[in-house]
Amino acid sequence: MNKTARSPKPAPKQTFEGVHPSLATTQDDWLASQKIRLLMSLRKAGVTDTRVLGAMENVPREQFVEEAFRDRAYDDNALPIACHQTISMPSVVAMMTQMLDVKPTQCVLEIGTGSGYQAAVLAKLARRVHTIERHAPLAEIARERFTAMKLRNIDSHIGDGSKGWPHAAPYERIIVTAAAPEIPQTLLAQLSIGGKMIIPVGLHVADQFLLRLTRVAEDEVRKEVLSPVRFVPLVAG
Ligand code: SAH
Repeated sequence: MNKTARSPKPAPKQTFEGVHPSLATTQDDWLASQKIRLLMSLRKAGVTDTRVLGAMENVPREQFVEEAFRDRAYDDNALPIACHQTISMPSVVAMMTQMLDVKPTQCVLEIGTGSGYQAAVLAKLARRVHTIERHAPLAEIARERFTAMKLRNIDSHIGDGSKGWPHAAPYERIIVTAAAPEIPQTLLAQLSIGGKMIIPVGLHVADQFLLRLTRVAEDEVRKEVLSPVRFVPLVAG
């Protein structure tokens, strides 16, 4: 057969760095393999709660990042989102969620909806999630994502979360995903007795710590300092 008459070889399908072409030929395959890799590294790093790992497996993080960053959705990195904010690192989401110890009967308040990813993970673990975001465009995009993913147990609100969401208080769990200069007493007041709150506290990015506050009695709060973290600031108003 004349060599030049041969039909051209089909163009190779797009493949992704680090994965054998026979294993990952589409972006979906690539993302699935990256997700497994991430979940394994989270486990190694101490995220052993199978409910938390299961929730993170079931929430497609690629749907919560900008189109341009989809390939990097399962890297353990924070990524930029609209309004100059960020979606938190998966390992931070995993650790904070594990520390929060959410039970299926509980109602959770999240301050700082951002992309909506953390709220979606919580929605897999809790009975109900209230989430508040001060930037309306972020809250609206997050709401569309919750609807598309049929996450019907999330109530999303626009406003200043440093005041909490008194309308549905008290909460058994509160998670703050922006750094507060000090522990907001208004939020503590919305925590039920026995309730837990996870919050990054610190005036400067370089000295923020993650705290776990447990309201052991009406007027007694136990404070645990967990680890150094870096969060965008909680902006009042
Ligand atoms: N939980 C988010 C990460 C959020 S980054 C996620 O999973 O993507 C922190 C978010 O807190 C930002 O979107 C920021 O706009 C919001 N924020 C900061 N101060 C706030 C306030 N006082 N009330 C509500 N949201 C606030």
